[in-house]
Amino acid sequence: MAEREPGAARPTDARDRGRDARDFTPPIRDGVAVSFEFFPPKTDKMAASLWACVERLAPLDPQFFSVTYGAGGATRERTHDTVVRIGNETRREVAAHLTCVTATREEVDRVARRYWRTGIRHVVALRGDPPQGEARYRPHPGGYAYAAELVAGLKRVADFEISVACYPEVHPEATSAAADLDNLKRKIDAGASRAISQFFFEPRTFLGFVDRARAAGIGVPIVPGILPVTNFRRVTEFAALCGATVPDWLARQFEGLDNDPETRKLVAATIAAEQCRVLRANGVDRFHFYTLNRADLSYAICHLLGVRPRAAPVATDAGLDEAAS
Ligand SMILES: Cc1cc2nc3c(=O)[nH]c(=O)nc-3n(C[C@H](O)[C@H](O)[C@H](O)COP(=O)(O)OP(=O)(O)OC[C@H]3O[C@@H](n4cnc5c(N)ncnc54)[C@H](O)[C@@H]3O)c2cc1C
Repeated sequence: MAEREPGAARPTDARDRGRDARDFTPPIRDGVAVSFEFFPPKTDKMAASLWACVERLAPLDPQFFSVTYGAGGATRERTHDTVVRIGNETRREVAAHLTCVTATREEVDRVARRYWRTGIRHVVALRGDPPQGEARYRPHPGGYAYAAELVAGLKRVADFEISVACYPEVHPEATSAAADLDNLKRKIDAGASRAISQFFFEPRTFLGFVDRARAAGIGVPIVPGILPVTNFRRVTEFAALCGATVPDWLARQFEGLDNDPETRKLVAATIAAEQCRVLRANGVDRFHFYTLNRADLSYAICHLLGVRPRAAPVATDAGLDEAAS
C-alpha cells in the first residue's frame, strides 16, 4: 500500500543512541503512528469488553487495528467476524492475522480470498505455533511451511498489505541470529512491507536489532511490539516460550504485588511508558500495542507519547469545576 510510513527507527537514529527519556517530552502527535492488537473474544462478556476497548482506542486514530488468529486455526471464524465488525464499526483499517498451522494452502487461500472480498486488505502473515499438545512445529503436508511461503501465497491471491513478525532476541527455533535475519529478509522479499516485533523489555535490545536488520539490507519499517505487563507471572511463562528476556529489574519492580492488581497496573504503565519514551527519544515513531483487549494501559502510554484523540473532548465548566475540586 502506498501509505506513507513515518520511517520507524530510521538508520540515522543510531546517532541518537543512548538518549534517555528524562529530558524528552514528546510533542503532540509529531508523526507518531500506533496500532493496537486484539484477540477474538470467546464469550459475550469478553466481546463487550473488547468493544469497550475498541471504542476507547479508536479516537487515537490508530494506523490499524489487528486481530490474532488462534493456534491451529481454532479462531478462524471468530477472527474473521471480529476483523469485519471492527472494520465496519470503526471505518478504520483492520489487519487479520493468519497462520500456516494445520491448514492446506487451498484452505489458507480461501480464508484470504474471503477477507479480500469483504474489503480487508491487510494481513499479518505468520507461521504460527504448534497446536496444543504438540511440542514441535511440523508443516502441514500440502500447507505453507513457513511465513515466507505464506507471504508469497497471499500475494498470489491478491495485493494485500502484509506485515510479518520479527524477533529482536531471535526466534527460539532459529539456528542463529543471522539465519533468523535471513528469514526476515525472505519474508520482506516475498512481499511483506512491515515487520512487527515480538515483545521485549530493554529498548537497546530493539534498537540493536534494528541496526542489524538495516545492515542486512532490510529497509521496511520495523515496529516495536509493546506489551504492558499486568500479570507478571504469566508474562514470565510466555517470555520463556517465545525467547524474550525478562530482566531482573523488571521482576524486582513487581515483587510483592501479586495480590495488588491496582498497583501492578500503575507500575506496568510506568514501565511500558518509559520503554516507549526511550524508543521515541531514539527515533522510533511507530508502536504496536499488545492490548490483551484492555484499553487503559495502551491509552495512557499513548497519551504520554503525545498520541491524543484527534477531536479532543471540549472541557465543560462542570468538568473544570470537578477537576479543580
Ligand atoms: C507481531 C506478532 C503477531 C503474532 N500473531 C500470532 C497469531 O495471531 N497467531 C499465532 O498463532 N501466532 C502469532 N504469533 C506468534 C508466531 O506465530 C510465532 O512466533 C511462531 O513461532 C513463528 O512465526 P513466524 O511467522 O515468525 O515464523 P517464520 O518466519 O516462518 O519463522 C519461524 C522459525 O522457522 C525458521 N525458518 C523459517 N523458514 C525456514 C525454513 N525454510 N527452514 C527451516 N527453518 C525456517 C525461522 O528462522 C524461525 O526460527 C505472533 C508473533 C508476533 C511477533
